[in-house]
Amino acid sequence: MKRVVIIGGGIAGLATAYSLREHSEGKDFEIIILEKKERLGGNIRTEKIGGFIIEGGPDCFLSEKPWAMELCKRVGLGDNLLPTNEQNRKIFVLSRGKLHVLPEGVILMVPTKILPLATSSLISIPGKIRMALELFIPKRSDKGDESLGNFVRRRLGTEALDKIAEPLVAGVHAGDPETMSVRASFPKFVQLEEDYGSLIKGMVRKMELLKKTHREAPKKDAPSAKVTMFMTLKNGLGELIETLTGKVSKSRNTVIRTGVNVTGIQKKDGGYEVAIEGGGDIKADSVIIAAPAYSAANLVRGFDSELAVKLLTIPYVSTATVSIGFKKSDIKHPLNGFGFVVPKIEKRKIMAATWTSVKFKYRAPEDSVLIRCFVGGSKDTSLLSASDEEMIRAVREELKDIMGIDAKPVLAKVYRWINSMPQYTIGHEERINWIDERVSAYPGFYLVGSAYHGIGISDSVRYGEIVAKKALHHIGA
Ligand SMILES: Cc1cc2nc3c(=O)[nH]c(=O)nc-3n(C[C@H](O)[C@H](O)[C@H](O)COP(=O)(O)OP(=O)(O)OC[C@H]3O[C@@H](n4cnc5c(N)ncnc54)[C@H](O)[C@@H]3O)c2cc1C
Repeated sequence: MKRVVIIGGGIAGLATAYSLREHSEGKDFEIIILEKKERLGGNIRTEKIGGFIIEGGPDCFLSEKPWAMELCKRVGLGDNLLPTNEQNRKIFVLSRGKLHVLPEGVILMVPTKILPLATSSLISIPGKIRMALELFIPKRSDKGDESLGNFVRRRLGTEALDKIAEPLVAGVHAGDPETMSVRASFPKFVQLEEDYGSLIKGMVRKMELLKKTHREAPKKDAPSAKVTMFMTLKNGLGELIETLTGKVSKSRNTVIRTGVNVTGIQKKDGGYEVAIEGGGDIKADSVIIAAPAYSAANLVRGFDSELAVKLLTIPYVSTATVSIGFKKSDIKHPLNGFGFVVPKIEKRKIMAATWTSVKFKYRAPEDSVLIRCFVGGSKDTSLLSASDEEMIRAVREELKDIMGIDAKPVLAKVYRWINSMPQYTIGHEERINWIDERVSAYPGFYLVGSAYHGIGISDSVRYGEIVAKKALHHIGA
């Protein structure tokens, strides 16, 4: 019987395995998933403690990229899909030590509404004028890649970069806009500049078209459940991992092995041999690496050292999340938003804070609130080497200073994510094209995961599905 080995039991590995079974129409072949840790899920880790639902890593996925949501529906979790709360959707930005509302209508960094920007206390008058001038700035003639920092400075000005784009991307990608590739990270903005000559013009036009489509769509096409920009699951994203694991492990000829560290791959007898720490090599007709790029580099070194070197050029940064629960009655702050982001120029110890129990229902007991802070990233990793106690103390000091919270927490939990966030730096697309071409020379061998074709959960799911179809074709299923 043909055999597919998947290395890595994060969302990419599990979604790939599920997709292999989904599309194989009962054909017989074996799947073995090998995961280094005892726990499946990789970056996705949900814990339930004392009535709180805590996300150690990701807490949601983007609905604009529908693949994660579709997967949830296919595995039977459609009824558990959870939108963000209706009220208090504001995001705040820390500026000169105070929280200011991110002007309504600003989409990532592009203003689409005049009044909220004009009356915003976040941006200075010269900064607002500079942002409005974006409408008249000619498009770039050079078609090569560019840093996000340069792109935003060029189109919207330095203040928009420092106070809006930089902290927002740091909150999502933990990245540095001066090294991030705008093409790989925000291809839509590059396209807007290309198509409309202006991000503001393009964004407003797109929104008008979207509204028109919604107005004209027949009623029966209306979604049955509310879909917001960010979606999660009622019991946390761990629910998706548990459900996928259950479905995959119950399918025929499928084995999930945890606590198994893969140490290398060799090409052998027209297929592959997967080496495992402690012995027990496994022969495979197809191998799918769903582990970080630097792990993939170690595994391919035995048969393609150049590919290994290239994989190592995809950098990763480390972060930590600190979730802190308080009694509601101890908090004077109105918590009138989903949280705040912190520009680098503010020189703080945290990058962002999500007011988790405001953003999503069911995250804290009725009488409590849950706040989650982000530490580290490309800005400052010094706190990552501190003990949990020190990190919690530092985060509490920041919350006291920024939000006036000096209450004793009822819960505090640190999750460290060392080398867990790939960075799409300038030239990422060319690097990935090179890697894709190289990998295509090895029939039945594939790479998936957030390092290559999209950084979020939805992208990992989508690419897993693409790879699953290729692997099925390869093994003739
Ligand atoms: C703090 C944080 C917050 C995030 N927030 C969001 C968010 O809100 N929304 C979103 O869409 N995305 C978010 N992301 C990104 C998201 O986590 C990733 O897109 C996604 O989880 C990547 O999944 P993956 O399976 O590719 O990789 P991983 O989750 O890293 O899984 C890879 C697995 O491979 C295993 N492995 C590695 N080497 C070996 C080996 N040699 N042998 C066997 N197994 C091995 C690892 O142990 C791991 O389990 C966040 C990431 C972090 C770190």
